Amino acid sequence: MTASQFSAIFVSALFSNAVIKLWLAWRQLDHVAAHRGEVPPAFRDKVALAAHQKAADYTTALVRFGVFSVLFETLLLLAFTLGGGIQLLSDWSSATFSGTLVQGTAIIVAVLLLQSVLESPFDLYRTFGIEAHFGFNKMTLKLYLLDALKGLLLGAALGLPLLLGVLWLMERMGDLWWLYVWAVWVVFNLLLLFIYPTYIAPLFNDFEPLQDEAQKARIEALLKKCGFAASGLFVMDGSKRSTHGNAYFTGFGKTKRIVFFDTLLERLSPNEIDAVLAHELGHFKRRHVLKRIALTFAVSLGFLWGLAQLLHADWFYQGLGVTTQSTALALLLFFMALPVFSFLLHPIAAAYSRKHEFEADAYAAQQTDAHELVNALVKLYQDNAKTLTPDPVYATFYESHPPAPIRIAHLQKLGEPK
Ligand SMILES: [Zn+2]
Repeated sequence: MTASQFSAIFVSALFSNAVIKLWLAWRQLDHVAAHRGEVPPAFRDKVALAAHQKAADYTTALVRFGVFSVLFETLLLLAFTLGGGIQLLSDWSSATFSGTLVQGTAIIVAVLLLQSVLESPFDLYRTFGIEAHFGFNKMTLKLYLLDALKGLLLGAALGLPLLLGVLWLMERMGDLWWLYVWAVWVVFNLLLLFIYPTYIAPLFNDFEPLQDEAQKARIEALLKKCGFAASGLFVMDGSKRSTHGNAYFTGFGKTKRIVFFDTLLERLSPNEIDAVLAHELGHFKRRHVLKRIALTFAVSLGFLWGLAQLLHADWFYQGLGVTTQSTALALLLFFMALPVFSFLLHPIAAAYSRKHEFEADAYAAQQTDAHELVNALVKLYQDNAKTLTPDPVYATFYESHPPAPIRIAHLQKLGEPK
């Protein structure tokens, strides 16, 4: 392959991705607008027209915003690669620092920082424009900046040693470096899973043990019935940032915790909370978490092997607008270009995730009342202004959860007396 051939492939893939994304956005806007006038029949007795229209408007605002992000990200990637941005930073780094490890780290850190600074107006607009307009945002600018600062420090504390280690292994371990890097990556991620609930999440939120004794007794009975051991039930102050509600599990083995957003507990009835919890337990019982982690590790091994094949290929660097070769540049270019070539895997990943959601729903229907989960979901759809009428193609491509009408119909069927 020649450099110009690879450039041509890269640019065509980048543009066709952008066209597909815009087409999907247009479909979603069109579908939501066409169904804005009426609540779908299955939800007519549960959802008011005003709430349905709020969901339509919120979805529309997010999708329109997404269109601008797509255009911006496409241009930014072009500017960094063929536009010469990375080459410029690479020249700056070799003139400023000495030693390949430090130079390489400086280039990667500079690109990451520049990227987040350039993208920050979008994030600010989403939080203080869209989310605030629809009444979801609870964040002050101070909290927002504090979060950003904490994220930056945490990223530096965890990411810098990892990056230095990876670059060192890439340079010192010969042809099989990718195996060593993969091993380090696996250990690093497992370590993160262990320390996240106890050391990282509390940097951003408060976690109080669940106080309500009656509720605690109910939940513990359900856990026992499902044969599940957790090291604690916690309530998180999600309302500090947003009114969106959720429940989740974190941690592994003995550090496993069940976390409820305070916003969720306030909104749902005890039976509905049981049903939502049973759904989350379903993910554990069906080993979705383990499967997902194993899959991620397998895929990252494939990626690292792919990177090893490109490390000494002139066309790879030059095709992406860089004339110098180094391990850091290869790493950077590879992970910047990767989303362009893996975009069409989105629907597969989404379908896999939806399969798991159906399985977790089936488990919840077995252990609790499917109708309670329906009621809980309808409340959550309304509170989160999630559209009940997504475009089927858009949903197939992007949605990690089944579209509301399909998911509810499934649950109603499961809830029918047998
Ligand atoms: Zn789920």
